[in-house]
Amino acid sequence: MPFASVYPLVTARAVAREFTYEVDEGVGVGAIVRVPFGRSRARGIVTAIVDAAPPGVDARPIESVIGEIPPTLVELALWLADYYGSTPARALALVAPESPKRRKEQAPPAERQSLSGEAEPLELSPPQIAAVERIVNGQGNYLLYGATGSGKTEVYLQAIASMLERGFGAIVLVPEIALAPQTVGRVRARFGENVAILHSGLTDAERRDERERIASGEARIVVGARSAIFAPVRGLGLIVVDEEHDPSYKQDSDPRYDARTVAAKRAALEGAVAVYGSATPRPETWAALEHLDLGGRLGADLPPVRVIDLRREAGYPLSAPLLNELRKVAEHRGKAILLLNRRGLAPALHCRACGTTIRCPNCDVALVLHGDVSLRCHHCGYTTDSPSNCPACGSPDLARLGAGTQKLERELARELPELELIRLDADAVAKPEQLALALQRFRETDGVVLLGTQMVAKGHHFSGVELAAVIDADTGLGMPDFRAEERTFQLITQLAGRSGRDAPGRVLVQTFQPDARPIAHAARHDVGRFLTEELERRKALDYPPYAHLVRIVVSGPELEPVVRALEELKAGITGAELLGPAALLRLRGKHRAQLVAKTEHPRRIASQAARLLSAAAPAMRKAKLTAVVDVDPQSL
Ligand code: ADP
Ligand code: ZN
Ligand code: ZN
Repeated sequence: MPFASVYPLVTARAVAREFTYEVDEGVGVGAIVRVPFGRSRARGIVTAIVDAAPPGVDARPIESVIGEIPPTLVELALWLADYYGSTPARALALVAPESPKRRKEQAPPAERQSLSGEAEPLELSPPQIAAVERIVNGQGNYLLYGATGSGKTEVYLQAIASMLERGFGAIVLVPEIALAPQTVGRVRARFGENVAILHSGLTDAERRDERERIASGEARIVVGARSAIFAPVRGLGLIVVDEEHDPSYKQDSDPRYDARTVAAKRAALEGAVAVYGSATPRPETWAALEHLDLGGRLGADLPPVRVIDLRREAGYPLSAPLLNELRKVAEHRGKAILLLNRRGLAPALHCRACGTTIRCPNCDVALVLHGDVSLRCHHCGYTTDSPSNCPACGSPDLARLGAGTQKLERELARELPELELIRLDADAVAKPEQLALALQRFRETDGVVLLGTQMVAKGHHFSGVELAAVIDADTGLGMPDFRAEERTFQLITQLAGRSGRDAPGRVLVQTFQPDARPIAHAARHDVGRFLTEELERRKALDYPPYAHLVRIVVSGPELEPVVRALEELKAGITGAELLGPAALLRLRGKHRAQLVAKTEHPRRIASQAARLLSAAAPAMRKAKLTAVVDVDPQSL
């Protein structure tokens, strides 16, 4: 009888290793098995077949084989565990998620919130033809770069069709299914039952059914968010990463993988092609990948962008020029999209008498006023009634600083009562169905404003949007993150792309910093110039893509031991430039600090850190400290 190395899918780091079991002839790598484990049983994955058990090991037989995944996914998971400093068990659980047993026959998942497709164009543009040609005959990774409306989605669809003809499958990643109903709708309209959709709104049973349709080969195309990169497609020919700049591709819990990096690895393992599409690519992608450039919009120009200098215009959040444009929209019964990347009524309550800003008791941030009655912490969810007097000095003179989406909604209702308002933020739309309804309503209504947080700037395509405006382009610029400028540039450019896809559109950007680089370049739609300069800056500072970052965050009840633990870690890490320890905002009552390593060898640094942390584990437990190691973090 042959033997198999099996990774039990248990979370404890203490048993994070392979165990040897006896298996029947024919069981191979990728088999999902049930095994006796200690005094109980566990689910496990076969990672290798061996002739003999290691000396001194009395291998027990497995109980049963309960499923299988393609062997390349085992290899992918083991690589992921190593690269991101997680355990193989946690990584293997991504590629072999537990699925509920089938109880009874079920109807297939209800028709998803996907919108109808569009007819296939009669002919592709020359750059589209060149891009499809390169993708289907090429190898490796490509950047598909083109403004919104330049025909990127059509290139994905044609490349998928050609892969299908050759017998290959495809995975299409989108940042968030609910925000990409058109993309999903177009893939489904073109390929019908050949498409499986994986998203967080599915029940466990629905997800199992979709996974089975994929595994059996019934569905050759998978559309989904981040975790769809692990879909058990066999004979994978193409991976599409749509809106590749979107930060949601990075998972922010263990394993902290980046689906874009995993996509490149999976493509390399399977000899597939990976295509990263965006109108505003990341500097990392721009620098590293071959560009397939679609150029500007098909059949239309990008709309002119007017920058409104808020140092010279009163009326924030609605300046006079913006009100003027909105009045025109009201007259034409047209549509407008307004972006304000801040929820609530006012981002802070401030006492004019003593200068106190009301803060969260658990976190070092101001509480945000919601409605007129409650104060909420956007980090920990702490909620309290809004006081009528200053809690520090008792003065009734409390000022509401700044504006959030609720305030914008009020001002719009007062100034332009003839316009219908649809607010889109995490408070207004808690569920994907509500989001789909709101978007549908916007599509079907005339004389309407869609206002909200960055959700309004994501990939929706609406016809007849004559005005798009950024209420406050500066909200993200003050963030202490080297990606702050990149994010601001992407947000403004993406929003500008929502306007004038058919109607002649106008774009307004309100800012106190009209000369700031991301704002000035976004106003000229100058993506190439922005990225060239951004890459120069990154190079000078040795930031990605010129180095990898590894971020180590320690948190605990007091700041001093947190910093001390990081100092000790710092002393033990070699071969990287180390920044910090720097104190971070206190969150949920925990003091936190971080150490950031700049390195060419992130795995080496991450594994050094993991070793040092596990050596320090007993002391850290005693001091109630916890640590997180994040390889290639997307925010600092
Ligand atoms: P993107 O994904 O870059 O935003 P799309 O693929 O959605 O661009 O194309 C924008 C619009 O142009 C869509 O309505 C699409 O159906 C249409 N379109 C795409 N390619 C062509 C083409 N070659 N000829 C005519 N219309 C096209
Ligand atoms: Zn006061
Ligand atoms: Zn809080």
